[in-house]
Amino acid sequence: MEKVLNDERCSEYLALMDRDMFKDLCSSILDGLRRSILSGAMDSFRQDDFFVLLDERMNAFKYPSLRPVINATGVVVHTNLGRSCLAEEAVDAVSEVARGYSTLEYDLKAGERGQRNTHVESLLCRITGAEAAVVVNNNAGAVLLCLAALSSGRSAVVSRGELVEIGGSFRIPDIMSFSGTKLVEVGTTNRTHLRDYAGAIDDDTAMIMKVHPSNFKIVGFHKEVSREELAALARDRGVIFMEDLGSGVMADLSGSGLGGEITVKGCLQAGVDLVTFSGDKLLGGPQIGGIVGKRDLVDRIRTYPLLRALRCDKMTLAAMEATLRLYVRGLSAKIPTVAMLSMGQMDIKNRCELLASSLRSGIPSASIDVVEVPDAVGGGAYPGTDLPGFAVSIRSDSISSGSLQERLRASRTPIIAGARDGALLIHGRTLLEGDDCTVLEALVEILGGHLK
Ligand SMILES: *Cc1c(COP(=O)(O)O)cnc(C)c1O
Repeated sequence: MEKVLNDERCSEYLALMDRDMFKDLCSSILDGLRRSILSGAMDSFRQDDFFVLLDERMNAFKYPSLRPVINATGVVVHTNLGRSCLAEEAVDAVSEVARGYSTLEYDLKAGERGQRNTHVESLLCRITGAEAAVVVNNNAGAVLLCLAALSSGRSAVVSRGELVEIGGSFRIPDIMSFSGTKLVEVGTTNRTHLRDYAGAIDDDTAMIMKVHPSNFKIVGFHKEVSREELAALARDRGVIFMEDLGSGVMADLSGSGLGGEITVKGCLQAGVDLVTFSGDKLLGGPQIGGIVGKRDLVDRIRTYPLLRALRCDKMTLAAMEATLRLYVRGLSAKIPTVAMLSMGQMDIKNRCELLASSLRSGIPSASIDVVEVPDAVGGGAYPGTDLPGFAVSIRSDSISSGSLQERLRASRTPIIAGARDGALLIHGRTLLEGDDCTVLEALVEILGGHLK
């Protein structure tokens, strides 16, 4: 151990780890080697073997585990890559409040305790037209909280066509049972009628719940009941009408060819009493679950004890407030998710052409083209809707597209790229400013060209 710790190769590692922890790690590696020698799997101790193992183990400490990557997949709301990229304004707001004390729960005027929810409530009401709003950790939490606060011990009526599973094991029937709500299924997978709902409502019913079937689409012989009809029925029978909208579209996206999706405001206008949605899907903000709607319902949720377990932290609230302010100011185009979704196909093409020409001069041996590709909204939204995009396609005789993808993932800033028919694809839509350069440098390094 003494020998090991004094080896000059360790000085670099000791900058990454406290000496005692490092010693523990070294002795666990030495123990392993000792066991291998005793069992006969290894014949003798070689210092180099030790340092190979040490280097492997220390690799995990060289870079943060949670770190930035470049999204060259063309999937805008990429759940595995952290969904939405925050607007500069939101990033600034986060770092401002993260660094020091803040008004998180402090009312400056009264000089006493305030509510953390106030920072976003009036903005959400302004944008959606809601009477009241509250935010929690994420939309799964928002749905759970609404059900627990408003229908626990009673029942909720849901169409069989809307009993969905969202990725990551969020399943409507499970959330219902967690919340203590009895699920009453009505209709069939493909068709549910107003009379199905009407026939299922009894004294036990707390609400009618509508769920956005975010990640799949029923085509063909299909019928669902309109929000207006369900709202009228709920009003008539004295039950709540709640909707889990999932993606939470705030601004009309029809300009980007993504029409047909109702906004949160649209839902409320159609008569829904309470709407829940995600902050980091199409809204383009931080991970949050929004709950907006009628004041008396939101007040019941606000005072329900489970809220405490689902509350957002100051950094999330700062990011959400800043993002919502952009909507209020009519500047939603500054939100990367919104900008990427509405990016014109020709702009993407131009961007790809620029990258392609640098790549051609940097790597003369590869064959490089700009090709039309389908991009995707992602985040389980707009199933079956491709966004028309462009990508730079790279083919090399010396390396397969799969190996190229692997090498790009191992870059200092990892790059996640697509592939099709044996060619690597760098989708232009999801590259952020400066990413083009990083991609260029990484590819030149891997494919052995020379940057001009
Ligand atoms: C995405 C989604 C959820 C889960 O939202 P999170 O913010 O990921 O917790 C719930 N319901 C629907 C309909 C969704 O699309």
